[in-house]
Amino acid sequence: MWYTAFMEFTTALMAWYDRHKRTLPWRGTGDAYAVLVSEIMLQQTRAAAVIPYYGRFMNELPTVEALAACDEERLLKLWEGLGYYSRARNLKKCALAVVNEHEGRFPDSAEELKKLPGVGPYTAGAIASIAFGEPEPAVDGNVLRVLARLFEDGADVTRQPVRDRWTDFLRDRMGSRPGDLNQAFMDLGSLICLPKSPLCHSCPLSSLCGAAKHGTWDRFPNRGEKKPKRQEDLTVFAVRSGDSFLIRRRGERGLLSGLYELPNRPGHLSREDIGQALTELGVRPVGAWEIVTREHIFTHVIWHMQVVRLTAPQVQVPGYQWYTGAEPLPEAFMKCLR
Ligand code: SF4
Repeated sequence: MWYTAFMEFTTALMAWYDRHKRTLPWRGTGDAYAVLVSEIMLQQTRAAAVIPYYGRFMNELPTVEALAACDEERLLKLWEGLGYYSRARNLKKCALAVVNEHEGRFPDSAEELKKLPGVGPYTAGAIASIAFGEPEPAVDGNVLRVLARLFEDGADVTRQPVRDRWTDFLRDRMGSRPGDLNQAFMDLGSLICLPKSPLCHSCPLSSLCGAAKHGTWDRFPNRGEKKPKRQEDLTVFAVRSGDSFLIRRRGERGLLSGLYELPNRPGHLSREDIGQALTELGVRPVGAWEIVTREHIFTHVIWHMQVVRLTAPQVQVPGYQWYTGAEPLPEAFMKCLR
């Protein structure tokens, strides 16, 4: 029943895509490596934010061999500011597998691509369809939002069986331009069928869309119950000396592992405890310090940071170093300096 009109949807969608598709630097190359890098960067990140990172990354690491040979700190520096750093590490693991197990050539089917580290069904579908023309869907949150609204389907899209159902549904209907169909869904979800305010009046599917017809777009997709994020208080010390500031490398496990951080302590310290912590660090402020607040939202936790900003002489502090510009510093700490 719902599905019978799908040919009409894809015809309208492809006609719209041919006229309005986004010009993006990774498009039109047909290069599996370029598709991989761009799709991994685009996870959790808008295309406009990805463009400069992608350009820099491809300039520095233009081939899968170059990525496989890149040392981790340089890789994380290239990723600095994009967040979700495990994506960069997985990208490198994937490059190593392509180089070591496939002689530097990407497998040309989604089935084989999914066996590479860090490549899930979405990324495999995107590479297989865009680089190799395989009729394989690439189903992400954008696609699920569009489909749920088109068909007013209230199934919980966070559940794997629901995602599998839509993937199977699309796989049988990819048509002769599978890469373009996947990209058309991506563009429609990013430009028109927006999460909070879809532009139904500009949508090529509006006359066919159940949610537009009944004004129900805000009920779809059903994303199940969201777990509340953990809240953590932190006191962060932004200790400046000239153009530099005090940092240290975080541990090898857990949140932001392997990246650098500003000195910090759990909780929001009192002024007295701040003075004590500075003494323990071995930092002697020049002049008064100020306190500002910053917040950073991660996937499962929110940091509420009380930031102590001060200037100090550039002396050796055991366990710490002074920032040279080469160390990857995550956005959570960058914002403490701004
Ligand atoms: S008509 Fe509106 S709700 Fe339906 S797919 Fe288009 S933008 Fe989304």
